[in-house]
Amino acid sequence: MGYDFTDYEPYDFANRRHIGPSPEEMAQMLAAVGADSLDALIDRAVPQGIRQLSPLDFGPALSEQDALSKVRAVAQKNAAMTSLIGMGWHGTVTPPVIRRNVLENPAWYTAYTPYQPEISQGRLEALLNFQTLVSDLTGLPVAGASLLDEATAAAEAMTLARRGSKSKAEAFFVDKACHPQVIAVIRTRAEPLGIPVIVGDPEGDFDAEAAFGALFALPGTHGEIRDFSAQVAALQAAKGVAAIACDPMAMLLLKSPGEMGADIAIGSAQRFGVPMGAGGPHAAFMAVSDKLKRSMPGRLVGVSVDARGNRAYRLSLQTREQHIRREKATSNICTAQALLAVIASMYAVFHGPDGLKAIAQRIHLKAARLAAGLERMGFDVGPEAFFDTITVKVGALQGVILRSARAEGINLRPVGEDAIGIAMDEPATDDTIAAVLRAFGAEPEAAAQMAAARVAHRLPEGMARESGYLSHPIFRMNRAEAEMTRYIRRLADRDLALDRAMIPLGSCTMKLNATAEMIPLTWPEFANVHPYAPEEQLAGYAEVVADLSEKLCAVTGYDAVSMQPNSGAQGEYAGLLAIRGWHRARGDAQRDVCLIPVSAHGTNPASAQMAGMKVVPVKTAANGDVDLSDLRAQAEKHAAKLAACMITYPSTHGVFEETVREVCKITHDHGGQVYLDGANLNAMVGVARPGDVGADVSHMNLHKTFCIPHGGGGPGMGPIGVKAHLAPFLPGHPLGGGRVGPVSAAPWGSPSILPISWMYCLMMGGAGLTQATKVAILAANYVAARLDGAYDVLFRGPGGCVAHECILDTRPLAESAGVTVDDVAKRLMDNGFHAPTMSFPVPGTLMVEPTESEPKAELDRFIDAMLSIRAEARDIEEGRADPENNALKRAPHTVEDLVGAWERPYSREQACYPPGAFRVDKYWPPVNRVDNAYGDRNLVCTCPPMEAYAEADAEAAE
Ligand SMILES: *Cc1c(COP(=O)(O)O)cnc(C)c1O
Repeated sequence: MGYDFTDYEPYDFANRRHIGPSPEEMAQMLAAVGADSLDALIDRAVPQGIRQLSPLDFGPALSEQDALSKVRAVAQKNAAMTSLIGMGWHGTVTPPVIRRNVLENPAWYTAYTPYQPEISQGRLEALLNFQTLVSDLTGLPVAGASLLDEATAAAEAMTLARRGSKSKAEAFFVDKACHPQVIAVIRTRAEPLGIPVIVGDPEGDFDAEAAFGALFALPGTHGEIRDFSAQVAALQAAKGVAAIACDPMAMLLLKSPGEMGADIAIGSAQRFGVPMGAGGPHAAFMAVSDKLKRSMPGRLVGVSVDARGNRAYRLSLQTREQHIRREKATSNICTAQALLAVIASMYAVFHGPDGLKAIAQRIHLKAARLAAGLERMGFDVGPEAFFDTITVKVGALQGVILRSARAEGINLRPVGEDAIGIAMDEPATDDTIAAVLRAFGAEPEAAAQMAAARVAHRLPEGMARESGYLSHPIFRMNRAEAEMTRYIRRLADRDLALDRAMIPLGSCTMKLNATAEMIPLTWPEFANVHPYAPEEQLAGYAEVVADLSEKLCAVTGYDAVSMQPNSGAQGEYAGLLAIRGWHRARGDAQRDVCLIPVSAHGTNPASAQMAGMKVVPVKTAANGDVDLSDLRAQAEKHAAKLAACMITYPSTHGVFEETVREVCKITHDHGGQVYLDGANLNAMVGVARPGDVGADVSHMNLHKTFCIPHGGGGPGMGPIGVKAHLAPFLPGHPLGGGRVGPVSAAPWGSPSILPISWMYCLMMGGAGLTQATKVAILAANYVAARLDGAYDVLFRGPGGCVAHECILDTRPLAESAGVTVDDVAKRLMDNGFHAPTMSFPVPGTLMVEPTESEPKAELDRFIDAMLSIRAEARDIEEGRADPENNALKRAPHTVEDLVGAWERPYSREQACYPPGAFRVDKYWPPVNRVDNAYGDRNLVCTCPPMEAYAEADAEAAE
């Protein structure tokens, strides 16, 4: 036998990494759907009228190694200097045990949002720890499981205050000591809602009667620390709601918002172990008083019980949220910052209350030594009392000192024309302090001495924190790394993420998050960059943003992209603000009606409401399409006021509607703009472009189509693409400029996760991306073909095909066997699967999106599981199984079901090992079915006291 060389192209490897089915498997799948070739299937599934004319051309696909080298070269154009700029971002040390075992661990980062609690107990516990941390530090009883960033959390505080306030005042007061980007994002949010914003000094300008709510800063952006108890009391006496933006690190030493009587506290948990990343991602937080908990925005983890009465976690009070309340929701938040909240909570678990306090004290003393040194040098240092941030008057020396500091590798904050701000952080050492002193002109020897001198604390009198925190045993575990490693592992093992099984979530595109794509994230040149460092230090980021934007324009057919929105929902909001800005610039300020099909994702109406628009629903036709005659009627009826129509393409029903151009035309003819929700872009890349079918603006969920992992509910990136006429109305820079205000705290939202999407594009190339789309469509049609008959596949488009997802009707089972969609979802856990999307867009159905990344064997395993569930329902229908006491109704089954008495009419074998479940590698849900109603009735949103654990253990032993 001779040597047999195969002529592999790197392109083939790109496909083999990301695209699940092998060429042979694809042939089998094509046979099952009755198509001669992949292209023949695409020709059938995608209407000719919307097909993209020229192929995506990004040059050749790069190998992993070449892509990493390319990204490495670009990363090196960033300068990872020491940034003591403050403004809400601080240097921090991610403990390596957390970095390796959480941030770099697919068991954590590939998980989905914990809507299915039984298979999400690990991250739910970590998020409950986060809530406990936030609740303790802010001194308020109820905290949510993260918001997007501090600035948007502040804007949410404003709207929450308005919901919660009984004051007749119209304005919202904002402490001028809030960070400038926080004030800017509040202004953006306030403007379309018609809320006047008063920015002023809480000690001089604050009139409690003039505002329905207020936000104070603790500490202020220049370091000032004030007790707001009097302002809070005055505001509450006038029936207003008081919010305080606080630094959680400072709260370890200072009187908390809760102790000042505040109703709301917000802030950023970034400095609890999450790198700055040039802005994000990191977890913002919000905590509220008991009376506001039911109108709080965002996700809230609560404690409930399972079918055995054991403690189980779940998401609470979901009826506040956009997917249920739509335009009446408390916010549009869907994707938040779950992974970053987990990291921050683990940082607190790792250090414990004493370790955290020591970090805070060290940070303070570093600032105190620096202040003392500068004072000795004759500088005027303020404020008198501070935590970590000081402001130094330097007059005409500002430029010189900033430059000298940069020469020392340190960024300081220019304040006005004649002052410099410095915020000390966890990584800073005496050398850092000495370098700053040298930049201010100290001789090296004197600088070193002053940096190491012993000084008294400079915290304000009467503001010392008196209440305790983190008394729960979780935060007081043995500090051995063995314990920490095992705790993180234990929680991860409770969850079912993409590292174990496909997650066939319709609309959410849970595809491969390739390891190579994740590598650059933790490089210091990406991780340790401050968003407001001098521009030239962000040159690498600028290049990533520019090239990725160009590629996204090519993919979508738009002319300009803004990377600012931190989630798809924020993209919707930013896109609608662009539409609003455009109308107003044309003198059409009255245009405020937004037509939205009833099948739209809940974020659509919620975002429209935030952008000051009135939502008018449009009917769905029987085939799932937008009802054109209703659309036309509504557009005519509201012609004078029509601002926008929000559609999703392919539709939320998983169909390429042939009428999409007509929908756009009707909207345009009546003066409106078309917002095309791009969450389903995975069905379009390389095949069709939103910009070509008539849409004006879309968001792209980079955490869906472009491989950023879901992180158990975030982070995300929802950049928007617009046609040229809307480009002037893209979000402005958070520090000023632009015709529309900023929507995020940082100019590029969460840039540190952009290299993931960029790597994906580089390694796939245009042809690879197009192939991915085609295979995603093939996989959905394969699942639909194989399950058709067992379940009705609702809605098909042209050629009898679905797009990249399909809806399986489980409603008939409710009638024939009393089996609900919930029962099917829970039973899938026994089979070793995360359920598909439940009850969206059609109640009682499952929406399956297999994506291009799943090998055929995994698709078949899922199909077998769904078929076996159908067979189990038939056993009930035909009297072979008990209508109540059966494997579907009692799913999921746990290890507890394997031991002890078993008095059920079905076997343990059937319970625990249905088709699809692995024998050796069986995934065991850690809890039986969770009681949702119990959890909402008995709301517990912080770690339950230790006695509760003892009780549960005792009950379990009985
Ligand atoms: C996921 C999704 C959104 C919202 O995106 P987030 O990033 O979660 O805010 C909007 N519309 C559709 C159709 C989606 O699937």
